[in-house]
Amino acid sequence: MSLTKKILIALALGVIVGIGLSFSSPDLFHGVNKYALEPVGQIFLNLIMMIVVPIVFVSIVLGTAGLGDPAKLGRIGMQTIVFYLVTTAIALSIGLGVGYLLEPGKAGVFDTSNADYSAESPPPIMETLVNIIPSNPLEAMTSGDMLQIIAFAIFIGVALAVLGEKTAGIYRLFEQANDILIFLVNGIMRTAPYGAFALIASAIGDAGLDALGSMFMYMVAVILSLIIHGAVTYSLAIKGIGKASPLKFYKEFFPAMSVAFSTSSSSATLPVSMKMAQERLGVKKSISSFVQPLGATINMDGTAIMQAVATVFIAQVYAISLGFNDILMIILTATLASIGTAGVPGVGLIMLSMVLKQIGLPVEGIALIIGVDRLLDMLRTSLNITGDATCAYIISEHDKRIESKKSKSKI
Ligand code: ASP
Repeated sequence: MSLTKKILIALALGVIVGIGLSFSSPDLFHGVNKYALEPVGQIFLNLIMMIVVPIVFVSIVLGTAGLGDPAKLGRIGMQTIVFYLVTTAIALSIGLGVGYLLEPGKAGVFDTSNADYSAESPPPIMETLVNIIPSNPLEAMTSGDMLQIIAFAIFIGVALAVLGEKTAGIYRLFEQANDILIFLVNGIMRTAPYGAFALIASAIGDAGLDALGSMFMYMVAVILSLIIHGAVTYSLAIKGIGKASPLKFYKEFFPAMSVAFSTSSSSATLPVSMKMAQERLGVKKSISSFVQPLGATINMDGTAIMQAVATVFIAQVYAISLGFNDILMIILTATLASIGTAGVPGVGLIMLSMVLKQIGLPVEGIALIIGVDRLLDMLRTSLNITGDATCAYIISEHDKRIESKKSKSKI
């Protein structure tokens, strides 16, 4: 049986067991969760988290060195950033549009009197930008600071490319380290169905189904926006620029989406999404290893959609009307907020608090959506990593065309 099928079955079983347990006695759920689901899920998570930092570091060093020419790195870097910013802005517009259309904040009675949420403050944008250059690369690795790891790896990669023969030994060492990591990812992916089952059953059982009723319209608005963005924006990019069938793209990339769905973490899913992009979608290694780790940190379209819908929802619940300037502010703040925050579970809510503060909406409103956020986090994380893979795919296809034109013109 293919991995995709196995994971699909595991997800379906996980949902059934999760729902079954949430309807059973709380004691039974807590027992099963504590002694079976949580440990199995956590072991799977630890296994993939274990290789995230080494894989990002090693593959970016190799990718940068493999690009050879620093000008090409600059071109690909620019294309990546433009794609990420434009798609995030489109995602936000879709979320705002659907939010206004479906009016989830007017679709029920929401008790705001007890709403309480203390926001953690995200890092200021200037600090984030300055700190991209790590003063201590080892500290960046131990704390898993992706942007700093990416920056350090690019420096080393450029040095290897420039020094060439002189550092051929170290280059070879990185190649061998990469082989080891790929071997490990292959092994870990075999455990994915078990991990996905345990994580989903635990998350669904834990989320409880009581919160779902009043928040139904909000969830519909978020899910609909996620679907529109995936089915229209990405499909257009895949078809228009990548010249490929979006359906085939989604089919091949599905195992990575399901791991994102069960872990709710773009960062943890990185080893799998890079493997799927390189092996199944044929994305060039040098491009995938640069574009996807960057995307896992700075590009979160699914999260942007949630923020847009949540902002409109909270404004509607508190009967505050948003003007054109507020809408522009939402788009700007939400886009900037996504740059400094890493792809880990629940970080979207921290970003949301920044957006709400910026336009003067009550941050306590987050308390209303927190109950259903775990479920939506799974879905939006799947879209987040799909956006990164779409970007890697179209840039790689574009690059292949440029190279083949160049080699043709030589003849
Ligand atoms: N969990 C999301 C991610 O890792 C971020 C979020 O929306 O909370 O991409």
